[in-house]
Amino acid sequence: MHRQDQAICLRSVTYSETSQIVTLLTREAGKLAAIAKGSRRPKNAFDGPVEMFACGAIAYAPGRAEGMATLTEFSQQPLFRGLRTNLEALNAAMLAAELTEKMTEAQDPHPDLFDALRQFLGDVQGAKEKKEGFIYLVLYQLTLLNEVGIRPVFDRCTNCPNKLSGHWKIIYFSSRNNGLLCPDCETSFVEKKRLSAPAAAALANLKTLKNTNERIVKEIEALLLYHFTELLGKPPKCRIQIRS
Ligand SMILES: [Zn+2]
Repeated sequence: MHRQDQAICLRSVTYSETSQIVTLLTREAGKLAAIAKGSRRPKNAFDGPVEMFACGAIAYAPGRAEGMATLTEFSQQPLFRGLRTNLEALNAAMLAAELTEKMTEAQDPHPDLFDALRQFLGDVQGAKEKKEGFIYLVLYQLTLLNEVGIRPVFDRCTNCPNKLSGHWKIIYFSSRNNGLLCPDCETSFVEKKRLSAPAAAALANLKTLKNTNERIVKEIEALLLYHFTELLGKPPKCRIQIRS
């Protein structure tokens, strides 16, 4: 039976002269690998080759067991054309797509994550300044961690009951502990990354993120990249320029 869904293309690779293999984030079925037969032919059921960030209604035949699905329709909406003319936004979007693909399991539904990714792509392509783009990226990455069940702890020490306070002279984040380490505890941890007080305060209260300066927002993005690198065992392939 064919299923219908909404999808965003996270990755597409050429499979043959006429076909592609695509990795989609679907709204109802989570991450889905599918073959788009004939998608590279001049006339096809996919509104042209399926490109990264293509978004719209799909129809597909599920694969057997964990096997690959067969995409039969993709009504690609031109929602994210702005990414083509905004290099920083494109890089942020590519990083978000890569992390989404790597952090989610196949066919594990996350409708809120789908909505968050669609919102993020729309927001980031319209970002007027660097800081704004970085804030969208930070918030999307935190949503991703939350959705896959590993929301980091930013309001207290993960090794003792201490709550984050202005008295913490040195603040560390530990990826393995998935959160902060207080000054009393950090000395017994090897894997950790230092965090400034303003960055920790903004992470503990995300509503204040937009009022922090660009340097702090970039520090937070660097921390998240450190964290994803630890989680994935290697750095993401998509690089974004943090220092400049
Ligand atoms: Zn502690």
